[in-house]
Amino acid sequence: MKIAIIGAGAAGCFCAIELKRRLPDAIVDIYEAGNKPLAKVAITGGGRCNLTNSFESIDNLKEAYPRGDKLMRRVFSTFDNRDTWEWFENEGVKLVLQDDHCVFPASQDAMQIVNLFLTRMRQLGVNILTRHKVESVRALMDEYDSVVVTTGGCSRQDMFKMFEGLDLEIVPPVPSLFTFNLPSSPVRDLMGTVVEDVTVSLAGTRFKASGPLLITHWGMSGPAILKLSSYAARHLAEVQYESTVLVNWCGGDDLDSVRSTLQKTAVRNPLKLIVNSHPDYIPSRLWTYLVTKSKIREDARWAEIGPKGLNRLTETLFNDSYHIKGQSRFKEEFVTCGGVSLTNINNKTLECVKHPGLYFAGEVLDVDAITGGFNLQAAWSTGFLAALSISSNN
Ligand SMILES: Cc1cc2nc3c(=O)[nH]c(=O)nc-3n(C[C@H](O)[C@H](O)[C@H](O)COP(=O)(O)OP(=O)(O)OC[C@H]3O[C@@H](n4cnc5c(N)ncnc54)[C@H](O)[C@@H]3O)c2cc1C
Repeated sequence: MKIAIIGAGAAGCFCAIELKRRLPDAIVDIYEAGNKPLAKVAITGGGRCNLTNSFESIDNLKEAYPRGDKLMRRVFSTFDNRDTWEWFENEGVKLVLQDDHCVFPASQDAMQIVNLFLTRMRQLGVNILTRHKVESVRALMDEYDSVVVTTGGCSRQDMFKMFEGLDLEIVPPVPSLFTFNLPSSPVRDLMGTVVEDVTVSLAGTRFKASGPLLITHWGMSGPAILKLSSYAARHLAEVQYESTVLVNWCGGDDLDSVRSTLQKTAVRNPLKLIVNSHPDYIPSRLWTYLVTKSKIREDARWAEIGPKGLNRLTETLFNDSYHIKGQSRFKEEFVTCGGVSLTNINNKTLECVKHPGLYFAGEVLDVDAITGGFNLQAAWSTGFLAALSISSNN
């Protein structure tokens, strides 16, 4: 039996290892366009490889997988994050769970994962053909019994040329996981400021996300913004990355309790300067900025705030609005929203409905996640399921 895998990335290499363990006599060839396998895995998680997540903070899979949550639920019934943990530990990779629920190798070195895969593929006899860009999947299907496409994400439509003649439905690719450019906002002067728990939303939409926010010299970044960029990836592409982000700097607190805390502060400290009494969760420079943005003088004391000033300050804390114009990459880390539509595949096997013997795994599918190890988890789980499906058919 001959099996071709297109793309020596996370999903392709994982699939190859699992295939050769199940079908030791099969010929497994991986075609890789680049000079070396697993080039992206080597740089994941800032070189530390955030390879999965405990999923403890996720109530609903759609929070982690804005595209493909239903498929992932099914795939996880075969191979989930606990299986991933066990798989790597069985291979001798000790893992650590961070407080933010992200899982890394204890070595904090993505090369440990790359070298493990390379060693296992060599031991099992997987053939890796680097500098072999596949131009036509159809042509390869004539040569092999099964073909697994694991070409990863790409926000250029031309990547899908290789599917010509297969009549597949493709969801147009757009980038996900990016930061917001706020070119005209003075908030950028506060670069480096972090607020631990904010809620951000896009004006006029239902897109909303919470978490830490980082002010940068070009605009806003941090987990809350990256999550929002993921949830709203397609909408933001449609409006050409021009929109309004609303920031609730008070995170979990409700508007009435913030207003009443401000009122109490005013009553208790009438002679104190407003800029000198910031809530614990707002750094003092940001507080001064928000106070002046609320049209309150920097030298005003609490006794002078008045009901209108109080309302304006509460409104700024809750609905602080910024004009987004453009997006920037987050540490070169991004994923693709879109790809091979899930309507093309049988979600129990990942086999193409129209072309038996053709399988898809990884980011080439219209599946993508927020940051935190969920994207690699999707690659391992779908790579595993494709291998299992091919081996159970043979
Ligand atoms: C900088 C960065 C950091 C990241 N960090 C994390 C992280 O810490 N945790 C996490 O969960 N996710 C992370 N991600 C996302 C994660 O890396 C991807 O979701 C994951 O690698 C997808 O796996 P894949 O196998 O589908 O694709 P890839 O790993 O991208 O592999 C696809 C392979 O296919 C090859 N290929 C493409 N077209 C062809 C062709 N026509 N012929 C032959 N070969 C082809 C490519 O060269 C590539 O080697 C990160 C992404 C980036 C860019």
